[in-house]
Amino acid sequence: MRIFVLLFLVFRLHAQTAFIPVKGLEKITVASEEDYWLTELTPLTDLDEIVSFIHNDPFKNQFIGFIPAGNPLVKEISVNSFYGVRNHPVHKMMKFHRGIDLQGKTGEPIISTGEGVVIDCGFRADLGNFVKIKHKYGFESIYGHLNSIGVKKGQVITRSQKIGTLGATGQVTGPHLHYTLKKNEVYLDPFDFLFMNFERQL
Ligand SMILES: [Zn+2]
Repeated sequence: MRIFVLLFLVFRLHAQTAFIPVKGLEKITVASEEDYWLTELTPLTDLDEIVSFIHNDPFKNQFIGFIPAGNPLVKEISVNSFYGVRNHPVHKMMKFHRGIDLQGKTGEPIISTGEGVVIDCGFRADLGNFVKIKHKYGFESIYGHLNSIGVKKGQVITRSQKIGTLGATGQVTGPHLHYTLKKNEVYLDPFDFLFMNFERQL
């Protein structure tokens, strides 16, 4: 019990001085909460590390929204095609699928899985109409084959904000959402994040 109280006090002290004590990560001391948001943190690549970081973050309630987690569709998740090597449905050859394909109907809403800013959107031959959102801590989420794009480049996005509608643009055989997650330019398996629930605790 005494240890628990001590840990609590240490945590409180750290929180007050905006000191982020996370094992395995560089320790960041900043003067104010404002500086904290301006400081980029050590790249997190390991999923356990990310989760542990979230649980240890004294600014958890503000931070959580910056992780692209949860379902980009407003319906039950149904996977058409997983992340990884697969026989490409259009190219008819083995290719690495750098995202996950989620089943849906044309016109269904697509929502952002985290807070961030639209760093790119438009049309690409392979992805069709797409939206690319930069979150914090090196995370990016990309939404492809959209029927319509509902945001502009440079627009700040909140979690669960509608960014477009599901479609079948680009190289596809039918309507679905292609959803990609990247961290510091490294592709992640989005499946790990689809069922995470990092709701803010108000
Ligand atoms: Zn895909």
